[in-house]
Amino acid sequence: MKKLLILSFAVLVFGSCDRSFDYPYTDILDVNRNTGYTEINLTALNHNLNLNPAENLSQTEINSVLWMREEEKLARDLNESLSENYEPRIFSRMAITEQNHMDAMLLLLEKYELEDPIGSNSTGVFADTELQNMYNDLLANGKTELTEAFLAGAYIQEFAILHRKDAINNQVDNLDISTLYENLITASVNHLRAYVRELRLQGTEYVPQLMTPEQYGEYIGRVTGN
Ligand code: MN
Repeated sequence: MKKLLILSFAVLVFGSCDRSFDYPYTDILDVNRNTGYTEINLTALNHNLNLNPAENLSQTEINSVLWMREEEKLARDLNESLSENYEPRIFSRMAITEQNHMDAMLLLLEKYELEDPIGSNSTGVFADTELQNMYNDLLANGKTELTEAFLAGAYIQEFAILHRKDAINNQVDNLDISTLYENLITASVNHLRAYVRELRLQGTEYVPQLMTPEQYGEYIGRVTGN
């Protein structure tokens, strides 16, 4: 028990450093020291992905993974664009962290030899029409005032949480995919909290835009170590 506590402490303190892996399946969450936001440790993820050979994915799983890779781009691009309009560093910092989530999804795509839907698409350009429309709408709203920008950022995180949860429950059977989605949900919960905090500092109490009050309470009440 004592050994376990020391190990947990070591992971918390040295989470961003390279680790040697003694266990088959390892924790992949990290807090980025510079941004304060929740990232995927790509070395650890790579370790996990290399444990088992790539099993055949269903078409639903393939579609989910490709879509999720672009959904992380939506989060990155929106924050990147908003960072050009507003002072608070949450946007530029969040863009860095969402880039990490994109990188994590790319590792998954590479293991399963799936073609990246992003290719050389630049900021604000999406293959998926729904994501393209969302980006356009959220950016237009977000540019009107700072409060709207925070709300747009929070909207994306709610959207991401609900979609990944739905995918885990209804679309995905593969452990590589569901494990990464679960970790990305934890990241999004922490990020949603960050926007809620910013809004509170502005005197706005956040009201969930997509979740039911019950879902919101369930997620935002989670203990996530951030
Ligand atoms: Mn993300």
